Amino acid sequence: MSQVVTRFAPSPTGYLHIGGARTALFSWAYAKNQGGKMLLRIEDTDRERSTEAAVTALIDGLTWLGLDWEGEPISQFARASRHAEVAHELVKMGHAYYCYCSPEELDQMREEARAAGKPPRYNGFWRDRDPSEAPEGIKPVVRIKAPLSGEIVVHDHVQGDVVFKTENLDDFIILRSDGTPTYMHAVVVDDHDMGVTHIIRGDDHLTNAARQIVIYNAMGWTVPEMAHIPLIHGPDGAKLSKRHGALGVEAYRQMGYLPEAVRNYLARLGWSHGDDEIFSTEQMVEWFSLEALNKGAARFDFVKLENINGHY
Ligand code: GLU
Repeated sequence: MSQVVTRFAPSPTGYLHIGGARTALFSWAYAKNQGGKMLLRIEDTDRERSTEAAVTALIDGLTWLGLDWEGEPISQFARASRHAEVAHELVKMGHAYYCYCSPEELDQMREEARAAGKPPRYNGFWRDRDPSEAPEGIKPVVRIKAPLSGEIVVHDHVQGDVVFKTENLDDFIILRSDGTPTYMHAVVVDDHDMGVTHIIRGDDHLTNAARQIVIYNAMGWTVPEMAHIPLIHGPDGAKLSKRHGALGVEAYRQMGYLPEAVRNYLARLGWSHGDDEIFSTEQMVEWFSLEALNKGAARFDFVKLENINGHY
């Protein structure tokens, strides 16, 4: 089997969040456990929200936690021409097409779908239309041809086989009219080019996985193994928010928590090894497996973190 390659792919729009740090830790621990490597990809395509300060904060946070990655961080934005190249290749292969619909036409399409009691989606207007009919002066977007029938199954190490009906996936945009890629497309091209074998990320990306598989299949690329981990909740079961405690790793560093304690605590948020509460990083790496990732939402409980910190 080829070497395991995982990646952590944060968007640099703020500090390193507890949830992001946990994703990074799991990706790192799995790569180490398998004798593989983790890569770091900075998903900086959103030029308005991405900042250099956030990149620095992410890197500082990961470094403080003792997580390392192979090579230089990869900028997704810097790869824009490659993303465009693949989109045009998909058009040539007949798996994608140029769509010239104006915003008004798209609005109308959605209205019509709504009126017919259907989900407001693109109706495939340019899917089989001759490009010579294209109106002049309009820069098209590139849409992928989603399969019209059947199912896409995400074989997930945490969630099991998750089935998506393809009729619910419309011909989504992979390249915008200004030539920039959508998130959905950039992630697939990057993961493929970087040789990523295992994608470990939050389960808020599970429905994206189905769409991403459409792109993998169209390109004839191997779909990486996937593990979508349940998001973190507060002790009350509600979605994690500031009232549950500080959400940035940096805050714990400033409060004097030890990186070992935070790492140990993060590991326990969604992964377990029997009843073991306290373990060394070496033990975590040795014991880590995707199969032991919990299917239920992890609970962030500040008191437990304090206990663990006291132990180190
Ligand atoms: N950049 C995405 C995020 O921060 C992650 C993308 C991915 O892991 O596929 O949520």
